[in-house]
Amino acid sequence: MITAGDTIGALQSALPLDPLENRILLCHALGLSRVGLVTQSDRALTAEEAAQLATLVERRKFGEPIAYIVGRREFYGLDFEVNDSVLIPRPDTELLVELALERLPQQGRLLDMGTGSGAIAVSVAHTRPDAAVTALDYSGAALDVARANANAHGAAVRFLRSDWFSNLDAETFDVIASNPPYIASGDEHLSRGDLRFEPNMALTDRADGLAALRIIIGGAGRHLAPNGWLLLEHGYDQAAQVRALLEAQGYADVQSWRDLAGIERVSGGRFATRNA
Ligand code: GLN
Repeated sequence: MITAGDTIGALQSALPLDPLENRILLCHALGLSRVGLVTQSDRALTAEEAAQLATLVERRKFGEPIAYIVGRREFYGLDFEVNDSVLIPRPDTELLVELALERLPQQGRLLDMGTGSGAIAVSVAHTRPDAAVTALDYSGAALDVARANANAHGAAVRFLRSDWFSNLDAETFDVIASNPPYIASGDEHLSRGDLRFEPNMALTDRADGLAALRIIIGGAGRHLAPNGWLLLEHGYDQAAQVRALLEAQGYADVQSWRDLAGIERVSGGRFATRNA
């Protein structure tokens, strides 16, 4: 029970969530920084604050992701606005950003396919103001979030509503990066944890998990500059299959990179040749 008159300090240890989550929800409900929680630990909550906090705690207990409750998530050192129209940015995806940055020439052109919150595109554009960054998504609601994030960080990103390559002209890019939906339909992870609340179309291809990856690998060649890189995030058990798909399309230097957990999480190759 959270009631008016409870102090911030007492609530920090009394709330039913883990300590980090208790603190995040207290900060959010009271509009305080972490330091504010400490300096005001003797302050008692008003009835309105207590009701507001109780609602947040109930939402969390129901399983709603913290990122959606507070509407934010940190990614690549930047604060991203998120809502349930977009996947919550994962630290694993920072690997994809690093790999893209390493391969993007000066004034290079990068395409982020299925940008969601804009995490990849905005991080690249923010780090490399010289780059020409394009981001596309099928979801207009996702593009609204991505645009807000680009504006918030002063990142110059061109946004495009497109079902994968369908609305792209003949233009080419030096790097194409994507974190597409790669979870197979019926995978038990979809009914666990945060994923229950995230947009299904961002998580699963409603097929074997490789359908979106196949579309991207099949079409990217027409939109890559000579020696341009295609970099793809994928599931923990898909690296060998993604490498095989890349090799079948004639990509060179095909390889996979491991995420923070040591799992092959991103695979890619260089578009050196064009298949007849
Ligand atoms: N990395 C997410 C997860 O498994 C899935 C993201 C995706 O499908 N692109 O939690």
